Amino acid sequence: MDDAERIALQIVDRHRREPSQLLQILIETQEALGHLSPRSLTHIAALLDLPRARVEGVAGFYSFLYDHPVGRYRILFSDNITDRMLGSQDLLAGLCASLCVAPGAMSPDGLVSVDTTSCTGMCDQGPAALVNGIAVTRLDRPRVAEIAELVRQQVPVPEWPSEYFRVDDNIRRRDALLGGRFLPGEALTAAMRRGRDGWLQEMRISNLRGRGGAGFTTAVKWMSCRDAQGADKVVVCNADEGEPGTFKDRVLLTSYADQVFEGMTLAAWATGARQGLMYLRGEYRYLLRHLKDVLAVRRAAGLLGGTILGEPGFDFDIEIHLGAGAYVCGEETALLESLEGKRGTPRIRPPFPATRGYLGRPTVVNNVETLAKATLIALQGGQAFAATGTAQSTGTKLLSVSGDCAAAGVYEYPFGVTVAQVLEDCGAPDAEMVQVGGASGVTLASYEFHRRIAFEDVPSAGAFMVFNSRRDPFEVARNFVHFFAHESCGFCTPCRVGTSLLKGYMDKLASGQGAKMDLADIEWIDRLLKNASHCGLGSSAPNAVIDTLVKFRPAYERRLQSLEFQPAFDLDASLATARRLTGRDDANAHFDGSGEVGR
Ligand code: SF4
Repeated sequence: MDDAERIALQIVDRHRREPSQLLQILIETQEALGHLSPRSLTHIAALLDLPRARVEGVAGFYSFLYDHPVGRYRILFSDNITDRMLGSQDLLAGLCASLCVAPGAMSPDGLVSVDTTSCTGMCDQGPAALVNGIAVTRLDRPRVAEIAELVRQQVPVPEWPSEYFRVDDNIRRRDALLGGRFLPGEALTAAMRRGRDGWLQEMRISNLRGRGGAGFTTAVKWMSCRDAQGADKVVVCNADEGEPGTFKDRVLLTSYADQVFEGMTLAAWATGARQGLMYLRGEYRYLLRHLKDVLAVRRAAGLLGGTILGEPGFDFDIEIHLGAGAYVCGEETALLESLEGKRGTPRIRPPFPATRGYLGRPTVVNNVETLAKATLIALQGGQAFAATGTAQSTGTKLLSVSGDCAAAGVYEYPFGVTVAQVLEDCGAPDAEMVQVGGASGVTLASYEFHRRIAFEDVPSAGAFMVFNSRRDPFEVARNFVHFFAHESCGFCTPCRVGTSLLKGYMDKLASGQGAKMDLADIEWIDRLLKNASHCGLGSSAPNAVIDTLVKFRPAYERRLQSLEFQPAFDLDASLATARRLTGRDDANAHFDGSGEVGR
């Protein structure tokens, strides 16, 4: 057995040789060995008694796993539109030139590779990048020059200036959640005092809806899980905040982790779950140590583990799993597949996770913010919580504000706040367009800024990207289309092909080769994606294109060769050479212009 095999064996054993731990095993093996060689995949497959194809399939699915050698320094620039607006493309080109490496390639000596990745959740302090998986923020020319020198000198990343890795919360507006006082265990004690049914009743009265985007009523989810067959229930926290422009969960995990974990424990109290899993996006792996520390403190305080707060039979603990760069895993069933150590392919529903989720067990999957909000309900009661916001959207909402504004950051508002109010507060007097809800969300033009952030008007998982008149709505939409084409999991043909076609049409328009009929084709692809996609990624992929096409049509039309131009093809003329070679020039060798062969 060589060193690589010995390391893989140790990692697999640490994970109890559980196939459901495959993704975690691959992440750790790559960390130890640099990349996942064919040999190490074979070895891991044998140790887990899994088909090698399954292991290779998982390794090939996630962007942050490499089955080929990559640089000892892996630098991935965040490629969200807000990073581009801050000059990320020039910075990437500058770094590549300085290190003599082509974008997307590894330097010949294996020292460094530089590439792009999808949004890293640092839009309020970009441009950002990941260096060996750890976020570096506020990139500018001097910092990029320093990074190039550190790489050349082969200074280990942990010895780089800590300032590079500083991630600020940038909380700009506080309300009930961000401004409240919280003592660990307080919310749990209040919920336990009400009993399991009484606590669920408070949740029902609060009408809390999921903050991850779908807006499903949390109490209904919890009740379905509680009532489902099977004793081994599970609570999953979806901390895979991958929607471009969203970063509010990052702030909650950084400074409100106790509330998030207490929310998970409240869900366990309601449902009877004994196991908790947090799925943390790979881009936030720098938070892993901190989150584990918070869990350890909670365990020591009797807030996790056996007999929580002295209650016999209330046993619950939480484990953290890492993602590895797959946006689709934010979809709850894809996330469950990933937690089970598989490719993140969305499942067919029903059955819903509440009845058949993680490893077939009844599972509650809630977003980070949703779980943190549950602590407010335990403390204030459902009625007090529901008194804020609107009839269908109770409580407050955290918004991740970025782009052309004076104060990017996290803002907490009661649901129902107008877009105009948010723009005023963040200092964006010249905003022309706002993308609410991220790449899959809604594009609003200035005449819609009176609209309200709420499930009944403009729903949002949290992203709020601001664009002024200097920005090109077409380029914003094109960036999002590239994102979806990259992130499509490839499971269903309409999305796999449709997102790729959409990208092709947008690139064609960008190159000045487009015609009016391309715009009609884009609308046709939109219908295809909306009607035939297996999951929300495919159906929402064209949203920004269609919105900008309707609301900012000149941005598209000025790229067309001519509004009247109709591409055509003269088949008869094209066949002239063939006629000459075959010596034919009779009527049957010609098209008559009607599409009929001449007679
Ligand atoms: Fe995968 Fe796209 Fe199909 Fe969803 S719609 S399952 S992301 S291919």
